[in-house]
Amino acid sequence: MPSLEGRSAVVTGASSGIGAATALTLAREGARVVGGARRTDRIPASVTPLELDVTDSASCERFARAAVEELGGGIDILVNAAGLALGRDLFDDSSEADERTVLETNVNGLIRMTRLCLPHLRDGGHIVNIGSVAGRQAYEKGALYVTSKFAVRGFTYALREDLLGRPIHITTVDPGLVETDFSRVRFRGDEETARKVYQGVEAMKPEDIADCVLFAVTRPPHVNVDELVVKALAQSSGGRILRTES
Ligand code: NAP
Repeated sequence: MPSLEGRSAVVTGASSGIGAATALTLAREGARVVGGARRTDRIPASVTPLELDVTDSASCERFARAAVEELGGGIDILVNAAGLALGRDLFDDSSEADERTVLETNVNGLIRMTRLCLPHLRDGGHIVNIGSVAGRQAYEKGALYVTSKFAVRGFTYALREDLLGRPIHITTVDPGLVETDFSRVRFRGDEETARKVYQGVEAMKPEDIADCVLFAVTRPPHVNVDELVVKALAQSSGGRILRTES
């Protein structure tokens, strides 16, 4: 795997799970990494922490300015990992507030960060969006999250079209079940329900997804990995997970 020595990276959602593991992996491979999140105290030590709320345009603008300055004027890799789901309910029980939070974070936030970082992406640069298997096939009781991740995939492919002819790569990495704080957030701090999501099945680790990001960003310049879909072996789709009896 080629080294990332001398390259610079920005990772959103760097305080937990996939974003934290990706930021760590890129730093380990030699990149200078700036990580953004609201909980900057949880961003790994080898990463420069900067406060970021992707739902807030002013926060995103401040973050992008500070990140570019910290990285010496240019970005080689942008990883959009900040995201969340809220609830596992029929759409009948959806609320305006939850809809706004999920769409503002997963869709508008990702688009906003991409728009703000794009002018600073160096030739040969790379945008990696963390999508989901939920953005490829719907599952029950996840309407807003599914909608948001379909949008991420649509945006990734639309941007691929607009970037054609420019030396910028773009990839969507679409994971299945990964054991992170995702379920804790989805179930609003209900530890018991969150734990059950990972019971009786060997879920992927955040590092497995960080490996996929690393693979995508270390291909030769003439290669663009459009999408990587990666699931736990015991999972065939968003809605179908084989669990052992406990
Ligand atoms: P996680 O452990 O809960 O991490 C989510 C990250 O997003 C945290 O760093 C959080 O930071 C950040 N974030 C949330 N809202 C934010 C906001 N408004 N502004 C800035 N940062 C924000 O969950 P994860 O599993 O790593 O999720 C990362 C991405 O992977 C998400 O896009 C998720 O949809 C996707 N994904 C996860 C799975 C899975 O099974 N875990 C599967 C497929 C896709 P702060 O709270 O500190 O701001």
